Order: sequence, then C-alpha cells, then structure tokens
Amino acid sequence: MAGKKNHNTNPLQGIQTLTDPLIRLKGVGPQKSACFAHKGIHTLADLFFFTPVRYEDRTRITPIREIKNGERSLIRGQVIYGNEERFFRSRKRIYRIIVRDATGSLELIWFRYIKGHLERFTRQGTECLVYGTGTHNRGHIQMIHPDITVSGQDKLDDRLDFYPVYSSIQGISDHFLRSLIRISCDGYLHRIIDPVPEELLGGLDLPTLQQAIHNVHFPPKTSSISALNRFDTKWHKRLVFDRFFSVMLALTVTRQSREDTVSPPYALPRCELKDMEAFFPFPLTSHQHQAVEEIKKDFLAGRPMKRLLMGDVGSGKTVVAALAAYMAILNKKQVALMTPTQILAKQHLEYLSGLPETMGLRPVLLSGAQKKKTRDDIYGEIRDGAYNLIIGTHALIQEKLAFADLGLVVIDEQHRFGVRQRALMQEKGDTPHVLVMTATPIPRTLAIAIYGDMDISMIKEYPKGHVPVETHIIGVKQKKWAFDVLREKLSAGQQAFIICPVIEGSEEMDLKSAQEMASRFKKVLSPPFRIGLVHGRQLSEEREMVMNAFHKGRIHVLVGTTIIEVGVHVPNATVMIIEHAERFGLAQLHQLRGRVGRGSEKGICLLIESDNAPSAGRSRLETLVKCHDGFEIAQKDLEFRGHGEIMGMRQAGLGELDLTEVMREQDLFLRAKREAQRLIILDPKLIKPENALLKNMVKMMLERSLDL
Ligand code: ADP
Ligand code: MG
Repeated sequence: MAGKKNHNTNPLQGIQTLTDPLIRLKGVGPQKSACFAHKGIHTLADLFFFTPVRYEDRTRITPIREIKNGERSLIRGQVIYGNEERFFRSRKRIYRIIVRDATGSLELIWFRYIKGHLERFTRQGTECLVYGTGTHNRGHIQMIHPDITVSGQDKLDDRLDFYPVYSSIQGISDHFLRSLIRISCDGYLHRIIDPVPEELLGGLDLPTLQQAIHNVHFPPKTSSISALNRFDTKWHKRLVFDRFFSVMLALTVTRQSREDTVSPPYALPRCELKDMEAFFPFPLTSHQHQAVEEIKKDFLAGRPMKRLLMGDVGSGKTVVAALAAYMAILNKKQVALMTPTQILAKQHLEYLSGLPETMGLRPVLLSGAQKKKTRDDIYGEIRDGAYNLIIGTHALIQEKLAFADLGLVVIDEQHRFGVRQRALMQEKGDTPHVLVMTATPIPRTLAIAIYGDMDISMIKEYPKGHVPVETHIIGVKQKKWAFDVLREKLSAGQQAFIICPVIEGSEEMDLKSAQEMASRFKKVLSPPFRIGLVHGRQLSEEREMVMNAFHKGRIHVLVGTTIIEVGVHVPNATVMIIEHAERFGLAQLHQLRGRVGRGSEKGICLLIESDNAPSAGRSRLETLVKCHDGFEIAQKDLEFRGHGEIMGMRQAGLGELDLTEVMREQDLFLRAKREAQRLIILDPKLIKPENALLKNMVKMMLERSLDL
C-alpha cells in the first residue's frame, strides 16, 4: 500500500538538482513515478510547485459537544467502539466507530472504506484525531467519511495545522504525497538559489522562494484560513509572481531576437481587398478587412510576422486565415495549418477545399489515422510542393515531415499549444510567418501584456446575420423545463451538449459526476436518442471517437466535463445545458455556448444554477443573458473576481500561465512584465552567474509546452 515504504534512510540521496527526475527519491519507484508523471510532476521542482488546491483549518480541537451542524471540525477522542456492521436490513455493509471525549460521544460512519485501514482504530481506548463535517442526527452527532488518524501524545502540537489538500493523483495516496513533500522540503529546499535577484524582491515586498514554497505547503499557525483559501498570501503571490516573471522573461527574449530577424518581403500586387472578397459568398466584416490588411502589411515588412488573431467563436477567423494563406501561396509558399484536434483539422479541410479554385489552394490533410503508406506518399508530395496547404494536428511537427518551402504557419485555437510546439513548427521553414488564432477573449491591455512577443488583430464583431444564443438561467427546480426543451429539440432532429463542471481535486469524482449525469439523462430520454460521454479520464483518441460520432449525428447528446473540444463546428447542435453554471467563469461559459446555434437553427443555452449558489453568482450569470460580446464578458469576469468561483484546473509545474490567474492578479502581472524587461534589457548584470535557476527558468519556458 502507498505510504508503507520506508522513509528512514535519506530519501534525497541521489538527488542532485531540482530538475532531477522524481524517481531518484527513495520510495518513488517506476510505478509511482509514472503516476506522478501522469499528473505532470516529473522533477523535484515540479513537486515543490504542486501546491495545495485548498486548506483545512485543523489548528484547533473542538470539544465534541460544540461540533456545529454542517461545519468541519477537528476532534480528539478515545475509541469506545468500532466494527463493521450491516446497514439496516440490506446486504450493504458499513463501518462504524464511536469516539468519546470529556464532553460527549461522536459516531463515525463509512460506506466506502478499506477495512484494514479502519481496523487500526478500533481497539478500545485508542486515542485518535478525527476531522470531518458534523451532522446532528436525532440527538446524536455523526460524521460521514471523516479523516481519522491516531493521535500520538508526543507530537500533537505539530499536528494541529492548516492542512493542505492536494489535487488527487491516481495511484498515490494523500498520505504518501504529503510526507514526500514534507521530506523534500526539509531535505532540499534550503539548496534552492532564489531565481529572482534580491534587489528586485526587496522592491516588490515579496518573500524568498524558499519561504514561499515552504509556507504554501505548510502554512504557519498565524495564517488566516480564508486568505489561504483565496491564495491571497504573500507566499502564494510570490509563486504566482515567478510564474508570470518566467513567462515574461522568455517573451522579452524572443521578442528581442525576432526584431533582429529578416525575411524577404512578399510580392502582393493582386491583393486588393475587393478582389479577395470575391472568393466568398458574403462581404467581409470591417474587422475581418482590417485583420487582412494588417497581415498584408506584415508580409510586406521584411521581417517574420508573428500575429495573434483574436475573435469570439463564430466571428469568422477562418476566412482571415484563408486569405493569409492565399497571399502566401501567391508567393509560391506553402502554408501549414495546425489544429488541436483531428475533427477540427477535418473541418478546416472541408471548408478550405470548398473555396474557389481560382484561389489556388491545394489542401491536404495529414492525420494519425491514415495508413503509414498513405502518409508516406503525402509526405513525398508535400516535399515536392504538390500540396500548398497542409492541415493537421501536432502530427505536423513530426520529424519526418519536410516542406518544399514553408512560408506561413497558422495555428488555430492556439491556447492548446505550447511555445515548444510552435517553435518546432516554425523550424520547418526558414523563419516563416506565424499567425495564431484564439477564441479566448481577454481585454486588450492584458492581451498586449501577455502576448508581449506578438502583434494583435482583433475581430470584435460577428458577421451579419449571426443570431446570439438565447440564454436562460434556471434553478434546479425548473430543470424539468430544461428536459422539455431538450426533448423538443431532439425530436426536431437537433443535437445537444450537456456540461457539468470538473470537480476540483478528484479525477474520480470528475468521472463519476459525468457518468451520473449521463445515466440521469438516459432515464429521461427514451430511445432512439443516444448519449455519448467525454471526460478527463479518457484517452484523447477515445474522446475524439465520441466527438466524431456526435459530429456525424450518430450520438444525439454529448455529456461531459473536460469537454467539448475547442472550435468544433457541429451546425446541428442547438442546445447547451450547463449544470452548476455558477462554478464556471463567464468567459468560459460564453465560449461554451458559442458551440451551439452555428447552423441555420438558433441556439439555446440553459444555465442551471444550484440552489446553494452564492447570490453574487446570479447577477454574474445575468451578464450572459444580456451580453453577447466576448470581450465585454471577459472584462465583467474580472470585475466579479474574488467570489471564489472555481475556474479551470490549477496545473502542476513551474511556468504555466493560467489566464484566470493573470486576470486575478493583474497588478502583479504587469509588475512582472516590467521587471522582466528591466532585467533583460537594462540590467542583465543582475543575473548572477550562480543563478542557474533563473537561466533555467527562461530556458524551460522557451522549451516547455506552456499555455501562451
Ligand atoms: P471562428 O472565428 O469561430 O473560427 P469561423 O471562421 O468558423 O469562426 O466562421 C463562422 C461562420 O461564419 C462560418 O460559417 C463562416 O462561413 C461564416 N462567416 C465568416 N465570415 C463571414 C462574413 N463576413 N459574413 C457572413 N458569414 C461569415
Ligand atoms: Mg475557428
């Protein structure tokens, strides 16, 4: 069992540097190391930066009599009874332990348990610590599934603390994880050289990295539980600062080097807007015009373009990309279009193949699903220049693929790709132009700060005739209405998405909630309607298969958590039902609803709000009913921040930029940007030679897949 391994010998022996693999730690063998790797934790540094998702206040012992209904508390008591029992007359078994202190007795119940584990606490008189939510039940007090440990007399004080709760890692017990982090901090933390120069830290009023890491994992007793749970401590801020800082350093470096690069300007005599517009059955919107003009200027400028095209779902970015491709192809260049999923790649192929032949696009799809022989043939034809528009997923960065003359790289839904993938793609050409597209709207100032190494074009209006998705907020009690809408639309031959939030801290719960949701809907939907399930535990191939079936109409309702692959265009999908809508960010909800109503029928989005949702949640959600502008919604999201809503998973690892975090900590972010520029451009001597971590940080940011 996890945690049984012996930690007595120095577990850190053999660990030389922070970037050494975790497997060097005693107690972490190949199996556990694979479990960690699955969660993105590869090195000791990753482990340090795998910070708690929340904290529990276990600093005080509550007398049993004072346990409040519905509140979590820590109890210390003696066992007076413990055994496995039958649950009433059913065949189900439960485990029951009763503990007592000077003020009363408390019943502990488990419906799911490992018997061997609980048996350790059943000997009468065993002193134990119990943490859980108290419920008053007909005169006596209970806790269901509490956390129980033996309370050794000696070190009790040490054990009263702010208890960190980590996102669960499959195959690693909480206990093991906690002790591994404890041991690593004790044994190794002092060896970290702070990457941020002292001179800089002083001015920012931030603690050292060592202090920050230590206290984020083991908060001092003087902390405030609410500040901890808002991640609003100077230790959390220091870690956030470092994430921002390393990204900004890397951006400053890349921007500098790009400014020194030249690429021959394109010849674009035949690229009048009105001629290009004639390729499409509709006039371009003025923002599309402007974006195309900006791209054209870049092509003429004599240095490689690096442009971000930002626009809501459905704002018509593909048209702009097609015209960028056209201009490159006029110059006898090849264009690569990289998408995060197969389906999206196929959709682009369909769309681009349908454009007039006079544009000269010769598109081809590269896919992992193709037979090796076919793929090799296509590779050959790409090398010979027979195709000039190559569409695919990250299959495009495979080493074997060589281009005749790659002039432009277009990356769709770029937040799914990292800097590394982008860099590898660019290496396929001789400083090709790069156009990246995103549907994640963020306010302009922030965009400029984040995408510091790119120029930005924005499409802030929808094409004419775009009908906004009708949005309603409904309570759980009105859910029947949601079912009625769903059934009605399905009967009319349309399709639906149903989304429940990812459950923080537990992949298993995540899966369970999606499965439960699917089976609930199965009950209310009679055949012939078919339900498909996508969730975080699936392999991406499996998920693509389900998505594909949905796309083809073989599945009518798609239920999931992690969900709804970006950018997917299923014109027949009209209904989007979102459970626990209050747990999502507004921008996220806005993107989700953009998935419906993309065909001829209008889309409808039902935001189901839980009964116990905070009242602030409602006015926040109302924004979506009234407003359909992604940028405005993103701004509102900012104004509402601090309500503690769960937005997206926090990921492990040094150096990933989480947009919601940027939005929450704008000031800190802008300061990180300023300091990074100052450091690289003005004061490089502040980077001391022994400060390898700082250099590594920059290197890592450049190499590593990060959300940029
Ligand atoms: P996204 O920005 O989400 O990638 P798309 O490029 O897929 O959006 O465009 C969404 C839809 O709008 C497509 O069906 C496209 O043909 C259509 N469209 C794009 N531009 C215009 C326009 N100027 N007028 C009318 N329809 C347009
Ligand atoms: Mg798109």
